[in-house]
Amino acid sequence: MKKNMLFITLLLFSILILSACISNSTYNNNNHNNSKKSNTAFKVVIDSGHGGKDVGATGASGQYEKNFTLSVSKKVEKLLKQEPQIQVFMTRRDDSFISQESRYRPKYANKLDADLFISIHGNTFSNPDVSGTETFYYHKNSRLFADIIQKYVAEATGFRDRGIMKKDLFVVKDTKMPAALIEVGYLTNPENESKMWTDDFQNRVATSIVEGIKEYKVRSEKKGIEKWIF
Ligand SMILES: [Zn+2]
Repeated sequence: MKKNMLFITLLLFSILILSACISNSTYNNNNHNNSKKSNTAFKVVIDSGHGGKDVGATGASGQYEKNFTLSVSKKVEKLLKQEPQIQVFMTRRDDSFISQESRYRPKYANKLDADLFISIHGNTFSNPDVSGTETFYYHKNSRLFADIIQKYVAEATGFRDRGIMKKDLFVVKDTKMPAALIEVGYLTNPENESKMWTDDFQNRVATSIVEGIKEYKVRSEKKGIEKWIF
């Protein structure tokens, strides 16, 4: 009888220690996750299309797309720097040439473990009557972001809303995080183009891109969307 009592006491004691260990480790895990969340900024990569000898589209007035994309990208960068929870990165900040073969743009974003990738472009077409704003994406995890950014940018440009489209473009295909490529307007359409070179228009577009990023950030955090596709 005495032996049994000793056994039961020992067993109860062991259970107590074990449960204390388990709850402690759960607490530590939660604590770890919380601190990780609050200390990790939302990383956004702004990719200014083209650059250097890759001039991109030649607009109706003869101006190059590479200058338009850099100007808008820098405005977006300036605005995002004012957002305390967002960390902004640029694939280029000057007229440097980035070869397509190097796949530098998506590699840069993947290496950073970025949360969002956004490539800024101006469109071109043989028929100068074609105009409007459109957004391209590739992976399913980018659809929501493409939708949101298209809504904001199309509203800001006031151009024809051409919607979003899945397209096999390496900058949105090779990036592992949600990625979208915005064609702000058609540089080959004289009406679109004349607006696209104005400071006022570019500021409006930059603001709309930032608003889109912020809406996506809130919605993805609420839903707990996984950013990685692999
Ligand atoms: Zn382009």
